Amino acid sequence: MTPFLQVTNLNASYGMSPAVRGLNLSVSEGQVVALLGANGAGKTTTLRALCQMGLRTDGQITLGGTSIMALSTHQIARRGVAHVPDGRGTFLGLTTEENLRLGAHAAPRRVDVPALTKKMFSYFPRLEERRRQQAGTLSGGEQQMLAIARALMSEPRILLLDEPSFGLAPLVVKDIFEIMRRVNTESGVSILIVEQNAALALGFAHHAYLLETGEIIMHGSAAEMRDDPVVKKAYLGQ
Ligand code: ATP
Repeated sequence: MTPFLQVTNLNASYGMSPAVRGLNLSVSEGQVVALLGANGAGKTTTLRALCQMGLRTDGQITLGGTSIMALSTHQIARRGVAHVPDGRGTFLGLTTEENLRLGAHAAPRRVDVPALTKKMFSYFPRLEERRRQQAGTLSGGEQQMLAIARALMSEPRILLLDEPSFGLAPLVVKDIFEIMRRVNTESGVSILIVEQNAALALGFAHHAYLLETGEIIMHGSAAEMRDDPVVKKAYLGQ
């Protein structure tokens, strides 16, 4: 597989406080990669740094071989990177359909909004039922579905997902991950997912990286990570 996203020796800090150090990571076309780690390990910071969201960064980040270090968040989105932040980032006062339409604005080229909306409703039938409802009135699970669908409306090449399971009931989480697998298989979009629930993430991803206090301490295929004694003890509770 060709690496699509390549991160080399990335440092990211909030003002003078370093949060991520010397990070190397890659995501191939169509690959699902998980970023694991405890609270405060630097997972969210890594996703923010990839989108140049208010951090001081140095090192190298390339998309399809081209550096994006000098680009703005908006320009990075137009290169095919869609970020679903923790807290979801939907517009609560707008309807489901309006949120989806807004998502299409980040697309690098003109997209067929009605066709894409229909496709999103085929992945997430619950959203079709709620199409004219304000996002603020949706359940937590539906809001997460909307956040993912909104990101997919830009037809991204890579989706950055921050803790999609956060605060949701296990059955809803199962549903969302099954849909995400379908999206990955059918559309070929790459996914970089941040998850505290390591068992869930390793069941979904092809490859995983483990972050501790801002540094990658281990990476491997999902199967290798699941079998690793450190991962088992500290992150899988086995
Ligand atoms: P969590 O799952 O708890 O969000 P995380 O692995 O995503 O954990 P980050 O949120 O990336 O961790 O935090 C990494 C480090 O950066 C922590 O030490 C945190 O206190 C610090 N940090 C996070 N956000 C900010 C901020 N806006 N300003 C200053 N420091 C921050």
